[in-house]
Amino acid sequence: MKKSVFLFGLSSLILTGLVSFIAKKRSATHVIAHRGAWKNTNSPQNSLASLREAARLGCYGSEFDVHMAADSVLFVNHDHSIQEVPIEKSTSATLAAIKLSNGETLPTLEAYLNVGKQLKKMRLILEIKTSQLGKERSLALAEKCVEMVRKTKTRGQVDYIAFDYDVCKKVKELDPKAQVTYLNGDKAPAQVVADGLDGLDYNQNVYKKNESWIQEAQQRKQTLNAWTVNDPESMAWFLAKKFDFITTDEPERLLDLVKK
Ligand code: MG
Repeated sequence: MKKSVFLFGLSSLILTGLVSFIAKKRSATHVIAHRGAWKNTNSPQNSLASLREAARLGCYGSEFDVHMAADSVLFVNHDHSIQEVPIEKSTSATLAAIKLSNGETLPTLEAYLNVGKQLKKMRLILEIKTSQLGKERSLALAEKCVEMVRKTKTRGQVDYIAFDYDVCKKVKELDPKAQVTYLNGDKAPAQVVADGLDGLDYNQNVYKKNESWIQEAQQRKQTLNAWTVNDPESMAWFLAKKFDFITTDEPERLLDLVKK
């Protein structure tokens, strides 16, 4: 009898500890560097140097943008053009000759993921850009991205984001285990759940206008990310709301706040 009372006491103690550990884990907001960490080192956005710097700072993840060249090779860059060369209408040979301001060549997705793979704890937040050449091309890009993630064996590190809702659904269809979140801010949590996606990744102003979506998403076990949150007041607002992730151009500043 005494033994069972002792065992009961011990197991409830372990359980309480476990619950508070999980609660603490759940409440921790993760820092995602927007296009890598580039601001304080003057590295080009989306460069390999900015990815490495995000890892060095201890960011949870680093976000980057992917486009498809005319011959279907994937490149990492924010805008649809780089140095006035339109990515989607150019060949990979033309694009591979482009130098960034720090001397790196414009990274292919393959090169980028291979570097990301060395940064073992780093989440690689892959944004599939909406094609300017139409829906089919956006969907083809989604397919190529999933293929490249498999080829580079980075499935365990990559999460997907996109503004095109059909692209999000396509990725989920191709890799049901992938974390896929939607960027465009025009779907309520119930809709996102119904379509099998994993969360909301909206502009910060969307949440400020639709505050009820925050609780609604949390109740539905959807992840919440806000972008691009750079000022300390807004950072504090999203931290207080227990967002899972905040994407920022100021990862050093947000890391400081998260640690407090
Ligand atoms: Mg992006």
